[in-house]
Amino acid sequence: MNIRKIIREELKVIFDDTTISIKIGDKILGGKFKNKKIEVKKISTNDKGDITINDKPFLRFRIPKNVEEGKATDSHINCENCEWHWDREKEDKNPLLCHKCGYDNEKNKFDYKALDKWKEQNS
Ligand SMILES: [Zn+2]
Repeated sequence: MNIRKIIREELKVIFDDTTISIKIGDKILGGKFKNKKIEVKKISTNDKGDITINDKPFLRFRIPKNVEEGKATDSHINCENCEWHWDREKEDKNPLLCHKCGYDNEKNKFDYKALDKWKEQNS
């Protein structure tokens, strides 16, 4: 991807009176309850001239307050694999591990060992 293309795909939008720039690779919220983290892979417009993200209308997405901060500082975690979501707990060794499906949202892979461990400790 060359620089010219990156600039073209960067987009400034007005949201809640704040100008936020969304670019490829950013995480925004979408899905049925607008609570599922979705990576921006494509920004374009449809034939009506509406902004689309990943070929879906922009209005179906929500922009987290601080896009830059991303999931690492969120106190509320949404599993990228299933619909499960939870609040981050300080004492949890793997705060981004989904206790429903075993998906580690930090390492972006399943960690059944850690899930078994957690189940052992919390049973
Ligand atoms: Zn999950």
